[in-house]
Amino acid sequence: MELGPIRPPSEAESLMLRVTRGCHWNKCYFCDLYKKYKFSRRRYEEIEEDLKKAADSEYAQNYTTCFLQDGDAFVLQTEFLMQILEGIHKYLPNIKHVTTYARADSIARKSVSELRELKTAGIEHLYCGMETGSDLILRKINKGFDAATIIISGTKAKEAGMVLSEFTLFGIGGKELAEENAVETAKVLNVIKPDFVRVHATGIKLSSEMWNYVKNKELTLQSEEEIVSEQKIMLELLADDMDCIYMNEHIVNLLLEVRGNIRTDKQNMLETINTYLQLPKQEQELFNLGRRLNIMFFLADLNNRAKRKQTEEGLRKIKTQNPDLDLAFVCNYVRQTQI
Ligand code: SF4
Repeated sequence: MELGPIRPPSEAESLMLRVTRGCHWNKCYFCDLYKKYKFSRRRYEEIEEDLKKAADSEYAQNYTTCFLQDGDAFVLQTEFLMQILEGIHKYLPNIKHVTTYARADSIARKSVSELRELKTAGIEHLYCGMETGSDLILRKINKGFDAATIIISGTKAKEAGMVLSEFTLFGIGGKELAEENAVETAKVLNVIKPDFVRVHATGIKLSSEMWNYVKNKELTLQSEEEIVSEQKIMLELLADDMDCIYMNEHIVNLLLEVRGNIRTDKQNMLETINTYLQLPKQEQELFNLGRRLNIMFFLADLNNRAKRKQTEEGLRKIKTQNPDLDLAFVCNYVRQTQI
């Protein structure tokens, strides 16, 4: 079977079905996921071949969900997606739910009745990388759509009864636009009311277009504490009654324990954030490095003597070898290797 390079962390158990290669947009300044792939739509015959192989494999019975790769299967015509869904159900009848990445502009181009048709045929869950609700930042990162399009796409998907995950990026505006990012993103999410908000801390890649902003001093990298403060502003602004799962699910995020339903767990999540922000500076630094060295995973690990010792040694080594090193740079460097 032909496989694309990535999937959302939550789709680990799903059958990966590649329906396009790469990303047809491929121009976001922060993203190099599909840079080496020339975009193409796979022919139905090729997709069908993979479905037959999956049906013949020893795992065939285990698959109950299928994820359509690569970057934006929703760029495909609705008729073609329907043909693919028919093929999935024909060869792998145990598959009940189909999910995919979908760009906001691709969702917005489809009518609510097309989306309903796709939902009825099995496309259950859309993963949309809105990144931010700020038009200023959307332009800066060359996302190719604006906040109004994100709102149209999100409300259409919800109207069609689909499950909607929105990915957001903290740190994407740097120190300069941190508050703008938090405030505008919360505004858009409060209108859409998605089922999941999947937050990510940005790791700006040194080879990306975004890094030029850093080099030109238009964007100042935020420290881990500043990124968490940005997260706090956004979480505080999210509507208290939103029945939505808020997730720090990716290793790139500092506080993996900050997750829960906004309606019922918002205060607990904010308390965890406050616990971190109120730590003495030295403890914050230790935790930040412990996380970035993959020694610590949760705040409670600060109480683990072995993990503290290992992290302290790492910190001492880094500071001895590079006394002037900026830890915001180090942490960004590690994060950009994790995405
Ligand atoms: S972030 Fe998404 S839309 Fe943008 S280039 Fe990467 S895959 Fe394509």
